[in-house]
Amino acid sequence: MADGQLRIKFLKKIDDILQQKKRNDNLQFISDQRYSSIIADLKRMHSAPDEKKTVKDYRTLRRFAYKDISGVERLVKKDDPFIVIVPTSEFYDVIHTAHIETGHGGRNVMEHHIARTYAKVPREAVMVYLSLCEACQLKRCQPKKHVVVKPIISPEMGSRGQVKRKNTYHNQPIATRFKLHFFPGLRALKTKF
Ligand SMILES: [Zn+2]
Repeated sequence: MADGQLRIKFLKKIDDILQQKKRNDNLQFISDQRYSSIIADLKRMHSAPDEKKTVKDYRTLRRFAYKDISGVERLVKKDDPFIVIVPTSEFYDVIHTAHIETGHGGRNVMEHHIARTYAKVPREAVMVYLSLCEACQLKRCQPKKHVVVKPIISPEMGSRGQVKRKNTYHNQPIATRFKLHFFPGLRALKTKF
């Protein structure tokens, strides 16, 4: 699947999840609009520190800060300003990059990788991405490397052997013309069969 198609399918599935949730205050899924609104709230509180704050304001202050990163205003974690908050519209890029950088890493590997730089990328979104990666799905369908082979339990076991003709002269005794392989306990027949 081309990258563009994967992105479209991913965004559609995330949209379906959001439709089901129908919660504006969903803390795991921060829309672009809400992202901007949180930054605006933080700026307002910074410029007027004495202004009366609501419960929501205090909650925002406890969780978020904002800073300029490469000319773009980004929300960051209050207790760790190096961790960038990711809005829903950027889930795909963050998850896709992590998946490639970890060599098609699984859920835990990806989450660990993402958490070093980003926050608010929900597990649900990582799982949606993994369900769409064709290479990973193909890998899951392949049989495991360590296949246990069942032993042959048959009364005829050991009564057969494979014979291979030796490169000998035809006038030599027949027993020497054949060599038994695999079952050294068997003896070569002295007559033709
Ligand atoms: Zn993959």
